[in-house]
Amino acid sequence: MSYQALYRVWRPQRFDEIVGQQVITRTLKNAIITKQISHAYLFTGPRGTGKTSAAKIFAKAVNCHHAKDGEPCNQCETCKAITAGRLNDVIEIDAASNNGVEEIRDIRDKVKYAPTQADYKVYIIDEVHMLSTGAFNALLKTLEEPPANVIFILATTEPHKIPLTIISRVQRFDFRRISAQDAFDRMKYILDQKKVTYEEKALWVIANAAEGGMRDALSILDQVLSFSDNHVKLDDALLVTGSVAKKLLKDYFLQVTKPDSAAALKGLSGLLASGKDGQRFIEDLISFIRDVLLYQESPSLVHVESTGLSDEDFQQLSAAASAPVLYDMIDVLNETQDEMRFTTHPDVYLEVLTVKLCQVSKDLAHSASELGPAKAKIDQLNSQVAQLQQEVAQLQKRGSTSPIVSSQPASPHIRKRSAGHPGTSRVNLHQVYQVLETATRTDLDEVKSLWSDLLSMLSNMERGLVELATPAAAGPDSVVLSFKQPFLLQRANGGNLSEVIQQDLQQLCGKDRRVTFVPADKWPQIRADFLKEHGYSIKKPDQRVQPTAKAPAPSREPQSGQDSTGTNAEPKQAAAPAPTSPADQPTDPVVSKAEELFGSDIVKVENN
Ligand SMILES: [Zn+2]
Repeated sequence: MSYQALYRVWRPQRFDEIVGQQVITRTLKNAIITKQISHAYLFTGPRGTGKTSAAKIFAKAVNCHHAKDGEPCNQCETCKAITAGRLNDVIEIDAASNNGVEEIRDIRDKVKYAPTQADYKVYIIDEVHMLSTGAFNALLKTLEEPPANVIFILATTEPHKIPLTIISRVQRFDFRRISAQDAFDRMKYILDQKKVTYEEKALWVIANAAEGGMRDALSILDQVLSFSDNHVKLDDALLVTGSVAKKLLKDYFLQVTKPDSAAALKGLSGLLASGKDGQRFIEDLISFIRDVLLYQESPSLVHVESTGLSDEDFQQLSAAASAPVLYDMIDVLNETQDEMRFTTHPDVYLEVLTVKLCQVSKDLAHSASELGPAKAKIDQLNSQVAQLQQEVAQLQKRGSTSPIVSSQPASPHIRKRSAGHPGTSRVNLHQVYQVLETATRTDLDEVKSLWSDLLSMLSNMERGLVELATPAAAGPDSVVLSFKQPFLLQRANGGNLSEVIQQDLQQLCGKDRRVTFVPADKWPQIRADFLKEHGYSIKKPDQRVQPTAKAPAPSREPQSGQDSTGTNAEPKQAAAPAPTSPADQPTDPVVSKAEELFGSDIVKVENN
C-alpha cells in the first residue's frame, strides 16, 4: 500500500477532532442538535485551519441518521459515502478550477431537484473568492431564493474578495490560525497513536514553522519522518523547517547589541541569502525583541517553548541589552519598515538598519562606561520621571481645554530615550469619542464577562499583546481597550489585532463591536475631556464637580511647546465658575454621567 500523507490519514472526521476552532465547532454542533440550520455558510480563515474538514463533517452530521450530540456516526452508509466523496447529494466544487459562470448556472439548474439519497443537498464551494463576477451573480440568485433542503458552504482564505451581497446572505465563521500549542498537541497525539517516538523540541520547531496551519504542520512532520526511522529528531526538524533562520536571527541580535557591525552585516547577508524577505525579517525581529522585553519583565510572560528558543537562549538575550536599548531598536525598526515600503532596494535599507541598530547599542554602552551602568539607569529613570511629572502638571494646568492626543517631547534627548513612551502612541480620538457617545455600564460588563473566553481564542502572540490590557469602555457596537504597556500598544496598533478581537467578540456575543486601543495613562484625561465637551466639567479634588450646561466650545489650539516650558502657568479656562455647595456632590450630574459610562469604581479615579 502506498504511503498516504499524514494530513489525509488524520483528516478530522468529527467536530471534536478539529484543532483550535472550539467556538466554531460548538456553534455548528448546536445548530445541528437544535435543527437551526442555515441555508448558507461562509467559512473563512488561513489555509490548513480546518475549513473544508468542517464543511464535510457538517455535511455528514446533517445527513447522518445516527448523529449524536451533533457529531456524525461515521459508520453508516451515508457517512461512509460522504467521507469517500461518492454521495451525489454532497457536491464539492473547487472554484479555483471552476470559476466559470456555466458551472454555477449548472448548480442553479440542479439545485431545484430534491436530494436523492440524503436529507440535505450540500454544496461545498472551496476557494469561493476565485469565482468570476458573473458566477457570483449567479450564485447570489440562488442564495436569494434558497430551495428547501439545500445547504451552501462557501470556503475562502480571502473573505475581502467576496461581494458584500453574498456575505450578507450567509452565516460567517472565521477560522483562526492554529496556535503552536494546539499543533504540538495534535502531532503528539498522532505520533503516540502511530507508536512513533519523538523529541518534544522537534515538535515545537515544527509547530512554530507551520505558522498556524495544521495541514502545514503535518506536511512538515511527514518530511521529517521520511528522514528518520520512526523517530522524530530535533536536528531533522531543524533541517526541514529551515529553523536555522531562527538561530541566525538570534545571532544577529547578539551581534548588533554587542555591537559588532561587521559580523552583523555578514549575518544579515546570510539571512537574506537563505531567502528571507526584508519586511518579514523586520517583523520577525520586532516580535523577537518584544519577546526579550517580556522575558526581562518576567520570564513567565513568554511561552518559551513556543518561540523555538530555549530558556538559556532567553537569559543570554535578556542580558545582551537593556529595555531602553530595546525600545530604541523597535523605534529604528518601525522607521525602517515605513521607509522600505517605497523602495525596490530593501537590501540597502537593511544594511543601514544594521548599522543604526549597532549605533543604538553603542550609544548606551558609551554612556554606561562613562557613568557606570547603575548611574546610567538612574539617569534614564530620572528623566522619565521628570517627563511624566511635567506631563501630569500640563494635564492639570490644561484642565480640559482640549483633548490630548500626543504630548510634545520635552527635549530631543528625552524623546530618544523614551521610545515607546505613551506620549508617542497615537490615539484615534474621534473613534474613542464615538465609543463614549454610546458607552454603557451594561455593555462594559458584558465585554468584561467575555474577556477570558476571548483571550482563550487568541494565538499565543496575540494573547501576549492583550493579556495585560483591559476593557475600559464599551457601547453596543464598540469597545475601548486600555493598554498599560506602551510597547505592547505600539505592537497592537501595528497589526490587525483590533479586527481579530472584533471578530472573536462577535462570535462570543453576536455583537459587532469596533475595537479601539488607548494608552492607560492617557485614558483618564480622554474621559475627562469627553465629559467636558459634553457639557460637564471636572475640578480638582478641593473643588466640587459641577455641570456647565452651556459648556464653552472646547479650545482646539494645538498643544504648544509653551506648556512644557512651564511658563504658561495659567490654564486656558481660568475663569471657572464658583464652586457649588458640597451638598451637590452625591447627585452630581457629571458623577452620574461618568458612572453611567464607566461605573462608580472608576469614577473615583476621576476626582484624584
Ligand atoms: Zn452516520
